[in-house]
Amino acid sequence: MLKLNDPALLETRAYVNGEWIETGRTFAVFNPATGDKIADVTDLGVDDVSRAIDKAYDARASWAAKTGKERGAVLRKWFDLILENADDLATILTAEMGKPLAEAKGEILYGASYVEWFAEEAKRIYGDVIPGHQPDKRIVVLKQPVGVVGSITPWNFPNAMIARKVAPALAVGCTFVARPAELTPLSALAMAVLGERAGLPQGVFNVIPSIDASAIGKELCANPKVAKITFTGSTRVGKILMEQGAATIKKVSMELGGNAPFIVFDDADVDAAVEGALIAKYRNAGQTCVCANRIYVQSGVYKEFSEKLSKRVAALSVGDGFQDGVAIGPLINEAALSKVEAHLSDAIAKGARIATGGQRHALGGTFFQPTVVTDVNRSMIVQHEETFGPIAPLFEFETEDEAVELANDTEFGLAGYFYSKDISRVWRVAERLETGMVGINTGLISTEVAPFGGVKQSGQGREGSKYGADDYLELKYMCFGEI
Ligand code: ADP
Repeated sequence: MLKLNDPALLETRAYVNGEWIETGRTFAVFNPATGDKIADVTDLGVDDVSRAIDKAYDARASWAAKTGKERGAVLRKWFDLILENADDLATILTAEMGKPLAEAKGEILYGASYVEWFAEEAKRIYGDVIPGHQPDKRIVVLKQPVGVVGSITPWNFPNAMIARKVAPALAVGCTFVARPAELTPLSALAMAVLGERAGLPQGVFNVIPSIDASAIGKELCANPKVAKITFTGSTRVGKILMEQGAATIKKVSMELGGNAPFIVFDDADVDAAVEGALIAKYRNAGQTCVCANRIYVQSGVYKEFSEKLSKRVAALSVGDGFQDGVAIGPLINEAALSKVEAHLSDAIAKGARIATGGQRHALGGTFFQPTVVTDVNRSMIVQHEETFGPIAPLFEFETEDEAVELANDTEFGLAGYFYSKDISRVWRVAERLETGMVGINTGLISTEVAPFGGVKQSGQGREGSKYGADDYLELKYMCFGEI
C-alpha cells in the first residue's frame, strides 16, 4: 500500500457530475518500477461517457454565468489544496508512472502553477471595442467560453498535462470531461478529489477513467455536445482525433510529438551546455515531448562535449523512483523499452559508437542505462523519430547553416535548444528554427507564464501564459445599429 497522509486521495472510482461512480468493471494500474498492482480503477464505457458529457453540458450555463472572480476563487482554493497535498500527489504519481519522487513533486508544483495562473487570469478575459464602419454603428467583441471540453492526456505527466488544460478551460467558463491515460488515472482522480473539496460545482470537472481509448476518443469526437477536444499525445493519435472530430467541426488543441534538436556551437559555454543537455535529455528518463532527441555539436567542441556529457551520464543513478538520489526511473513499459533498443541498434548498425550505457539495466524490468552514442548521422532513425528514452545521440557538424538545416529536417516542431554566446548568431538561429519554443543557453523552458506549443506536425494551440485562455474562447462580434 502507498503511504499517504490522506489515503482518501487514492481514489479509484470515476468522477461524474460531482459523484463517485462504479460500473462493476475495473482495470488494473501497475507500478512500472516493481510491476506491482497499485489499484483497480473503475472502467467507464461509451454510455457512461456520453452521460458524463450530458452532465458537463448541463453544467455549462451556470458555471459560465459566474463572474471570473468567482471561478477564479474556486481555482485558487484548488491550487492551495494541491500545494497542501503535494507530497501525497507526488507519491501517487511516482507509484503509477515511475519518475523519481523529487521530479514527481516538481510536476505537481508545475501543474499547480497553471491552476494558480488561470485562477488569476479568470478576471481578465477582456473583449474589445472596434470603431464602427458606419456613423451609426458600434462594434463590440465578446469572448465567450467554447462550452464542453473533452480532454485526452498521456501518461508521462499524469498531473500536469491535465492541469494545463483544465485550469484555462474552467477559468473562462468551460466545463470539462477528462480521460486520463489508462496507465496513469490515479493522479487525475486525486486532482478531482481536491477539486471537489475546493468547491467545483457538479458537472464542471469530470474524470472518466477507461481502458478503451479508441472507443472513448470516438465518443468525445463525435458527440455534438462536446465543443472542443484538447489532446496531448502522439502525432499519430492526434491525426485520428482531428479526422474523427471533422464530422462535427470540433475545435482542437493538439500538443503532439516532438523531435527536439539541441545544438552546441563552438562558441558555447561547454560546461553549461552539458548541464542543459542533462536536463533536456534525461528528465523523466527521456520521456517528455520536449526532450532533446538529437544533439548536434560543432566539430571544435565535439570531443570535449561528448567526454564531459558521457562522464556525467555514467554517474546518473538508476532505480525505483522512491529511492533517495535516483535520477532515472524505469521506462513506462516494455514497448517503450523496445523502441529505445530499436533506435539504438539501428544507430549502431549504421556506424554509431556507444560512449556510455547502451544496455538494459541490471535492475531488469523496464530499466535502461542512460546512454550516450557518438558518430551519429542523419541516415539513422534517431534523426527522424522521437526516441522517448534515455539515449543522447551526438551528431557532429561544421557550419551554422548545416546545423539549422539538420535541426529543421523533421516534420516535428515543438522545442529546440541551442548554446552560443554570439548575440548575432543567437538571433539568427532562434529565428530560423522551425519550432514553437526555443531554449537559448538553457535546457529547461516549461513555465506557466510562457506559451507552450508546437508548429508543423507537433500540433496547434498554446498552453499557459496570457495566450493560453484563447484556446478555450470564442469571439462573438456584436454590431449595434441605429445609434
Ligand atoms: P503516448 O505515446 O504518449 O502514449 P498516445 O498518443 O499513444 O501517446 O497516447 C496518448 C493518449 O491518447 C493516451 O491517453 C492514450 O490512451 C490515448 N489514445 C491512444 N489511442 C487513442 C485513440 N485511438 N483515440 C483516443 N485516444 C487514444
